[in-house]
Amino acid sequence: MPLEAYAFEEESLGSHDVEVAIAFCGICHSDVHLIDNDWGISGYPLVPGHEIIGTVTTKGDEVPFDIGQRVGIGWQRSACLTCNTCVGGHENICASSEATCVGHPGGFADKIRADGRFCFAIPENLPSETAAPLLCGGATVFSPLHRHRVQGRIGIVGVGGLGHLAIQYASAMGCEVYAISHSPSKEAEAKSLGADHFLTIGDLDQAPPLDFVLSTVSADIDWEAIINLVGPNGTLCNVGVPGGPIAISPISLIMQQRSICGSAIGSRLHIREMLAFSAGHGIVAKTEVFPLEKVNEALERVRKNEARYRVVLQM
Ligand code: NAP
Ligand code: ZN
Repeated sequence: MPLEAYAFEEESLGSHDVEVAIAFCGICHSDVHLIDNDWGISGYPLVPGHEIIGTVTTKGDEVPFDIGQRVGIGWQRSACLTCNTCVGGHENICASSEATCVGHPGGFADKIRADGRFCFAIPENLPSETAAPLLCGGATVFSPLHRHRVQGRIGIVGVGGLGHLAIQYASAMGCEVYAISHSPSKEAEAKSLGADHFLTIGDLDQAPPLDFVLSTVSADIDWEAIINLVGPNGTLCNVGVPGGPIAISPISLIMQQRSICGSAIGSRLHIREMLAFSAGHGIVAKTEVFPLEKVNEALERVRKNEARYRVVLQM
């Protein structure tokens, strides 16, 4: 269904909260899943958007940012900050975690009120337009690559918003990167982003055993073909959210002692580390900018897999 302009009352501003005038907001495929209620959690009216960069205009007493400071906001809006998971630095998987644009108005808007403890200072050398997608897409792929201390041969499946950032991070981490795509037209750009090799889904038998495979695909795929890319004792990590189950035969896990895992956005520490790593290595998204008024046109590009590689709305 098409999005329409919608006016709403601001949420109240608590002592930890900020109001941010939004400059840019990326369109993550999770926004499309939410608009379409693919996950059965959407309530309407829905204001999508969770790859936000803007400037602080108002703040509560306990917020460490300055008025006028540039900050970013990603998928996560809050967590209890007291459970063992949070205290252990894994607040991204806290059972009480809330999302920026589920049950609260998100970033396809001129401003947002958010918890300053889930806002991030943006390094000076990162432009707002191309850094906005780092807040969700960048964090989601950087975090598992960083946590698993990837090395050797790495496969990145899906060269979309998340995938094109994952190629850049894995390459900057010193890995030999295999970009795996069902879109042959993405080969030259995938290589320019740092992929050493490009394979289409039809060429997978040409891949050597990979140490770590990160799947960013938003649709159901042949998981047997993907797990068979993983070499002995290697790992398949999935971050994409297709509708169907991940069907993998037990024997495909047993015989090569392969592991499979998932990863959810990134902790606040990993988001800070991702921003510093991106600033240090000059990693940003390749973006196409649309004014907010053209949001439906912009969403169509994402739905049709035409975005190269992240569509960003300008407010
Ligand atoms: P995106 O920009 O639309 O990219 C997804 C890519 O998947 C496409 O570019 C395409 O790559 C591939 N793809 C799409 N349809 C396909 C099909 N039918 N068969 C094979 N490949 C297909 O999406 P995104 O923003 O990167 O998000 C990707 C997924 O990650 C979404 O499901 C999103 O909800 C999820 N996500 C998860 C987290 C998390 O915390 N785990 C965070 C953010 C997003 P090729 O053309 O190269 O094949
Ligand atoms: Zn997202």
